[in-house]
Amino acid sequence: MVSHLPQTVLFCSHNIFIITTLTRAIPSLYEYYLQPYYADAFSVIIEMDILVTISLKSFIILKDEYVQSNKGECTLINHYDRIFFEPDAMEYPLGKRMYNQFKKEGVNIELLQSHNRVTGIPGKTSRESFFYGKNTLVVGVRRTLNFASCKPSAHFQLPLVTGCTGICEYCYLNTQLGKKPYTRIYINVEEILAQAHELIEQRKPEVTLFEAAATSDPLPVEVYSGSLETAIRFFAEEEYGRLRFVTKFTNVDSLLTIDHRAHTRIRFSINTQSVIQAYEHRTPSLADRLGALSKVLKYGYPSGVIIAPVIMTGEWQRDYEKLLQELRLNIPESQEEQFEFEVISHRFTTRAKNNILDVFPSTALPMDENQDRKFKYGQFGYGKYVYSPEKLEEMKAYFKYNIMNLFPAAKINYII
Ligand code: SF4
Repeated sequence: MVSHLPQTVLFCSHNIFIITTLTRAIPSLYEYYLQPYYADAFSVIIEMDILVTISLKSFIILKDEYVQSNKGECTLINHYDRIFFEPDAMEYPLGKRMYNQFKKEGVNIELLQSHNRVTGIPGKTSRESFFYGKNTLVVGVRRTLNFASCKPSAHFQLPLVTGCTGICEYCYLNTQLGKKPYTRIYINVEEILAQAHELIEQRKPEVTLFEAAATSDPLPVEVYSGSLETAIRFFAEEEYGRLRFVTKFTNVDSLLTIDHRAHTRIRFSINTQSVIQAYEHRTPSLADRLGALSKVLKYGYPSGVIIAPVIMTGEWQRDYEKLLQELRLNIPESQEEQFEFEVISHRFTTRAKNNILDVFPSTALPMDENQDRKFKYGQFGYGKYVYSPEKLEEMKAYFKYNIMNLFPAAKINYII
């Protein structure tokens, strides 16, 4: 019986032997989380005849640690199997610096032949392609500087990064970024910010809002690019420009001491611990996210939370109340007035559902079109399944009441 194993067992390749013994007892652990990363090693040692049994409790703990912890030495949070550089990226100082850094770390780097075509990411099935894509980083130059609009949270998207290393089953990026959803860092940050400056100038004296997380979670790669730091410094100087981004990640330390002049709002995407455990793989725990939120508040950043997707199954009212109460403990009353809430109920398109089922065939996401759902056309012309009007009303009333009760001075931007 294996009931306690060191945390590193699921992070470090030199422990693959132990991982193998575990996964023989728990096929789904291998299937979902390990196989895409360690396929070769498995084929070598899978034949070893070690009998391991494991209690269900231990499995849950191990799975949880693997997908959530970012504290282990060999964490997979920022684990890239392969990194591609566009040739032009090397002409920028940031590109050169990143290239040298990755080289020093011994990461497998390849130069892309074409700017737009990323070939060389393996994957025979949808699931393999997905996981290999998630472990791929592309460093390139942003050529189109026409920023897309970003309603309702901002006027424009600020394209610093696309993609995300997190593996949330419901993530809308899974349908936006193709079968191999790699992360791409744009290294021409100065050119991107110069374009933002143009837009701010055109719209002043109205304040222009930019969202840096419209097609990404930009924080996991901040350690390489520092582009959020550069953007926060830039917006601190802009009287009529404001930056905002949302994240599930926690590596905010490099941003804390920047003289941001309250021109950047850092929001955290949070959910109940049961939703995080079930669907938000390879992301930090709720406690870690709230810890990071406390830090940015302490350093004077305007902040807020996005509670999404709200999943109305099981004891959802009790779970979300607990979430709001935990949040309450992390927000000083002096900061409440500037604190913002965005609440988004779970919804899905047919295309998203099919993609999710391809990659996560046993997903427990509630996606039965006939169960408490209504088909609705969205602002971009495609249809999606949202909760039925009765369920939505119940959810809206619930969050309005509980947020106003616990955070009377905070602002609710929307509950949808
Ligand atoms: S952290 Fe956000 S962007 Fe990343 S996979 Fe999860 S939902 Fe998508």
